[in-house]
Amino acid sequence: MNVIYYFDVCAFLVLVIILISLFMRKLIHGRINGTFIVMVFVTLLCTIFDMLSVAPLSMFGHVSVGVRIFASYAYFVVHASILPAYSIFIGMISGTWYMYLKRNLRNKIFFSVPYMINLLFIIINPFTNWIIRFPKGHYERGEYIWVIYLIAAFYMAHTMVYLLKYKDTIEKSKMFALAAIYPIIIISAVIQFILPSHLIEMFSITTSLLIIMIFVIKPEETIDTAVGAKTMTAFKNDTKRLYFDGNGGDLILIKVKNDSSLVSLYGLNAHQTVVKKAVSRMDKVFSSVPKPGNYYNIYYLSYGLFAVEMKGDYDADDICDRIEAELSKPIRTGEFVFNFECSLCLLDIPKDIPAHSELMAFVDTYDKSEIESGSIVYSKLGESDKIRFKFDIDKYIERGFAKDNFKVYYQPIYSIKEHKFVSAEALLRLIDDEIGFISPALFIPAAEKSGAIYQIGDFVIDSVFKFIRDHDLKNMGIEYIEINISTMQCMKEDFVDNVKKKIREYGISNKSFNFEITETASDFLSDVLTKTVTKLHNAGIEFAIDDYGTGYSNLQRILQEPVKIIKLDKSLADDLGNIRTRAVLKSTMQMITEIGAESVIEGVETKETADWFIEHSCDYIQGYYYARPMPENEFLEFVHRHNAAG
Ligand code: C2E
Ligand code: CA
Ligand code: CA
Repeated sequence: MNVIYYFDVCAFLVLVIILISLFMRKLIHGRINGTFIVMVFVTLLCTIFDMLSVAPLSMFGHVSVGVRIFASYAYFVVHASILPAYSIFIGMISGTWYMYLKRNLRNKIFFSVPYMINLLFIIINPFTNWIIRFPKGHYERGEYIWVIYLIAAFYMAHTMVYLLKYKDTIEKSKMFALAAIYPIIIISAVIQFILPSHLIEMFSITTSLLIIMIFVIKPEETIDTAVGAKTMTAFKNDTKRLYFDGNGGDLILIKVKNDSSLVSLYGLNAHQTVVKKAVSRMDKVFSSVPKPGNYYNIYYLSYGLFAVEMKGDYDADDICDRIEAELSKPIRTGEFVFNFECSLCLLDIPKDIPAHSELMAFVDTYDKSEIESGSIVYSKLGESDKIRFKFDIDKYIERGFAKDNFKVYYQPIYSIKEHKFVSAEALLRLIDDEIGFISPALFIPAAEKSGAIYQIGDFVIDSVFKFIRDHDLKNMGIEYIEINISTMQCMKEDFVDNVKKKIREYGISNKSFNFEITETASDFLSDVLTKTVTKLHNAGIEFAIDDYGTGYSNLQRILQEPVKIIKLDKSLADDLGNIRTRAVLKSTMQMITEIGAESVIEGVETKETADWFIEHSCDYIQGYYYARPMPENEFLEFVHRHNAAG
């Protein structure tokens, strides 16, 4: 028979290229890469033996009958390993292989017995000639060759069932690439059956491997080489596996609270170097506690957010403490010295958070919520504290609306010049039937994430406008109410029209309220936001900048916007003991006055603090020292009592 062996030659070339590219791109470490290299290598050997055993002699010069027979046996031996290796590869990709084989003797037997039978048939073939025989030195199929095909079919079916069973742990695009091997092999088998002289099989397997290399072996997706940590994509997949694997594992989430100010102060380049150093410090923590069989992964999820996964018998609390200690030491790069302010959260998965989707939501909420520095252990948190970070806060928001549990409170603001309360800030309250008070600092970020912020925003505006309409606040000395709006609300297309419509509907003056937006938002002021602010300003509505002094404050920039009031953040009031803070405050307040705007200091709790600001010509004071936020009636009473007396 004259065989067409060019397909084998092509397969050979492609396999060599795949191997070279794997080594050149350093895709050789780790279990997945390792298994893939084994598969490519075995396929390469198989191709070589295939050619040696059946190709026309002219191709290799003289090939003796002995070499041909040896090559045929070698072909069958390596060929037997390709499909089982593929099964193992799929198991590695889904991250479930360890639990499938390592901890289950029955599976182990089930998986390896067909392979053993295959090898056995080849070993006894010289006596039985069941698989192959060589009449006149030429290769011919034996009468039991179907056993080999049957075993191949077994592994194909096994892999397919495995793939389907664990499909949730593999991304879609990868699933397609991994499943492509089936149609390819089936088509090639059909072709080979019709045209037996075409050696197409190895080429078809090679094509499948090529597809896998392109779609599945993607280091750029899982490793952020710039900082030397794994990516968010890798985190999503790896943590999915924590839920499939019976063992679970420990996770530490690390939030760098001052990350955005570090970026704006030092620039992206220096920041990246620092992140890289932070990662290697975490690495150091693990290398100081070597434990064979254990493993860990470090992830850089997004700006200012890291995660560490540990499996095995690490002392998770201890590791957590050590990482915290490592990260709180100053990090130097060139002339810069960075000081991370971190908060860490230790989670025991799946015990603490029972589903992967909840974990991902938790990571999001954790990233967005305000947390004190230091480390916390999730399982040691009290119920109410867990709610603070709770992923299903959306549920409480929904219930809040259904049961009418949202209320707007008012915190009076004192005018130093007029010696009375002239305005108030509207602050939203959610009092849940079961768990009681939920802080807006918690549910506002969650609402921004879920989109509930629009409903919340409308609710607050309606409540405040109604309050203004129903009471003659002006007569009581209250000039205007300050309403907090989130950037997201502001960015909504119909926001301005909506506000104008509501003003008409309630028949209130556009001077009876103003909007507060936070300083960080205004710092990264987008065009949309600026446009909204300008449009509202043109409609006679004033703005206040909230939380000034918390981010990378740029007063010049802010004052270019039509802003009437600057609210100095509570942290500045708390830091009055610091001579530099006092100096910054003095010059800031002076600049605000010069520009024709007004300053409010927030969060004043003591007489001393109030006195300092009175002395240094701040315009308004807000804080518990004067009054806490209170419900409508109490507020009215309060103002009535104080403003009348004053
Ligand atoms: P914020 O706008 O900076 O509001 C001031 C916060 O400081 C309020 O917290 C207020 O209760 C608190 N505060 C006032 N005086 C003192 C004091 O002397 N000492 C201390 N320790 N705290 C004081 P609250 O009500 O928990 O609100 C937290 C944040 O939630 C607000 O910070 C604001 O960003 C957001 N928020 C509240 N209501 C709304 C709303 O209706 N819409 C939007 N978008 N955000 C809101
Ligand atoms: Ca505010
Ligand atoms: Ca504020």
